[in-house]
Amino acid sequence: MNIKPQSACLIVFPSGDLIPYQVARNHSTCTCQDFISGSWCNHLKDAGCYPKRSVTLSSKPNFYQALSGLVKGIRLRNLDEAAYWLTYCWSFKQKLNGAQFRIIRRLLIGSAEDGHSIAIMEKLADNYSALLSKDIDFTSVMAELVRICKVPNWWHPDTGGHDYIYSGMLATRKILYDRANYSASDCLLGLEQAIVKQNKVDALRWIIQDQESDTATNSLIARKLYELASTYDCQPAKRLIQNIYLRHEKSLKSDNNFLCQAAWILAGGNSPAIDQIEDVTQAEVNALLDKVNATKPYVIPGWCCDGVHCAGNDIRYAGMWDRMYAVCNQYNYYGRASPDDPWLEDEFYCLDGLTVAEA
Ligand SMILES: [Zn+2]
Repeated sequence: MNIKPQSACLIVFPSGDLIPYQVARNHSTCTCQDFISGSWCNHLKDAGCYPKRSVTLSSKPNFYQALSGLVKGIRLRNLDEAAYWLTYCWSFKQKLNGAQFRIIRRLLIGSAEDGHSIAIMEKLADNYSALLSKDIDFTSVMAELVRICKVPNWWHPDTGGHDYIYSGMLATRKILYDRANYSASDCLLGLEQAIVKQNKVDALRWIIQDQESDTATNSLIARKLYELASTYDCQPAKRLIQNIYLRHEKSLKSDNNFLCQAAWILAGGNSPAIDQIEDVTQAEVNALLDKVNATKPYVIPGWCCDGVHCAGNDIRYAGMWDRMYAVCNQYNYYGRASPDDPWLEDEFYCLDGLTVAEA
């Protein structure tokens, strides 16, 4: 059998014209006008390709790189890395307006973007206001990080996360090939029908579609999800919306992670990690803090800086659905998700849901 490597394929995107745009992943080129006139077009990004930019990483990264280091550390369940960058970010508390809010909000979002345990999300939601108070003890902040990292992330198959991420990836790709305009009520109706039909991809699609058109309608989506969760007596979805999203709606109105998890579960998704939560002791948090404080400053690792959310060059652990599914495949290949293992883009990056033409 002769299977062509994925990189030799052309990805076809609608152009609104007779001739569709074609992205060559192996050369990072596109036939659209934006690319021809010198920009890195969205088609390339939709095919998982991002520009390589020269970047100098240092042991004194800016806040955004350090925050990205925290997110990537959480994503890979690398507690030492996450704890180091959390502590580093916290040092901005006095000198950067809103730093504490950004850090705490990121932890709350991270509990859902990088985990399926609703019990952990609820715990963070319970503590959220206290964590935002100006005299909060940093050990309480660190304890939340430790709690998140104790339960496996979506890349571990035991969490059911591969199905969630795969469904989200297909959902974003459906949107790419259907450029019609949808109103908020179209999205609500689509969501409801997808749940009736137990179609996880479509359920996620209508939430992501909605997000693309108008973030204000997240609030309508949340209320619709709550209504559906009540109708179907779906406790996990109810908890996600009522105990977390609506409770902290002001902080979460531009985020759809809790909504996506609820929609996925309502459409038949299941995670055995929903109620998984581990104790975190003061002694272990103190030991971790001692370890961080004894660490000499070091250059932020390249894999922490994706070039999308901060200056950087390593797209592997960025939070787009297609990139996250590639991490699931990295886990399938190596039995772990480590930035140190050779990255096999052809092997890990999945083209399902994209229209592919042979080069
Ligand atoms: Zn293009």
